[in-house]
Amino acid sequence: MLLVNSKNSELKNIVILATGGTIAGTGESGKTTNYEAGNLDIKSLIDSVSNINEIANVYSEQIVNVDSNDITINHWLTLANRINEISKQNDVDGFVITHGTDTLEETAYFLDLTVKTNKPVIVTGAMRPSTATSADGPLNLYQSVALAANDLSKGQGCMVVFADGIYSARNVQKVNTFKTNAFNSIDLGCLGYMRDNIPYFLNKSIKPHTVDSEFDILGLNKLPQVSIAYFNIDADPSIIDYLAKKSDGIVIAGAGCGTFSSDWLKEIRKLEPRGIPVVRSSRTGSGIILNDTAIDKSANCIPGNTLSPSKARILLSLALTKTVDYSKIRKIFEVY
Ligand code: ASP
Repeated sequence: MLLVNSKNSELKNIVILATGGTIAGTGESGKTTNYEAGNLDIKSLIDSVSNINEIANVYSEQIVNVDSNDITINHWLTLANRINEISKQNDVDGFVITHGTDTLEETAYFLDLTVKTNKPVIVTGAMRPSTATSADGPLNLYQSVALAANDLSKGQGCMVVFADGIYSARNVQKVNTFKTNAFNSIDLGCLGYMRDNIPYFLNKSIKPHTVDSEFDILGLNKLPQVSIAYFNIDADPSIIDYLAKKSDGIVIAGAGCGTFSSDWLKEIRKLEPRGIPVVRSSRTGSGIILNDTAIDKSANCIPGNTLSPSKARILLSLALTKTVDYSKIRKIFEVY
């Protein structure tokens, strides 16, 4: 991508990589329900933000245009490789990724661990389609471009901008099914606020990311398969063996502190000699899971720390690109 003929040499050059979602959705005029995600192309989205050219020179690429439930690992690899490639250009200052909200936090965390640049990478979306009354996409896009163009954002890892909030990719979660303020980091807090185009940073993530992450996807065309098993009262223990046959690792969305029944534990123990790590995370949505001497005495049982099940799945998959050693994977979950 050549950014020749920059429109305004005083402004930063921001590349928007678009993937679809509700931000690019269209439906019945004024309505917020029953619309189709991933319909508008990125050029039309940019045109809907009248003052975007006052805060940055924006360049765009449509990577894909889908509902984010249809995002795949191939899209992740394409996005991360594209960012890694374009970020080498001196005339590129930052990135914005537009994405559906349903799986936005997963893509953001994957990028946080796999892009190799200090340049800002901001992920955003919208809860209302572009055709709704008070669509939230244009302001989220405007603020994301502003954040990507701000020097304070350098070296902060991948961030999510949503409804005036700035969140770290590692800690952010979708916490509401329909409200515009649908993202939050619960106990772990936001990184700061956006007011119009100005960021106000309050916190910083201390976890390794981007250039400090040990994970490198260059040359990979797939990732180790990790499946999530959701525990509930009377949950069928045979699901563990079923998933193990198809997976290189398993994440448990456990009750409370990442726990499950004694029947599940028996099945999980059987996976230890089979070389299948089982990371314990929680279905509660917040809190920390540390070593439990009773459960984690099997080397393959690994506490998931503060990662949600879907984030633990990403970290386990990337960990498995480097090692199958249980104790090394355990360390990775302590550090990241
Ligand atoms: N189903 C949509 C998506 O994730 C929801 C959204 O973007 O808000 O693509």
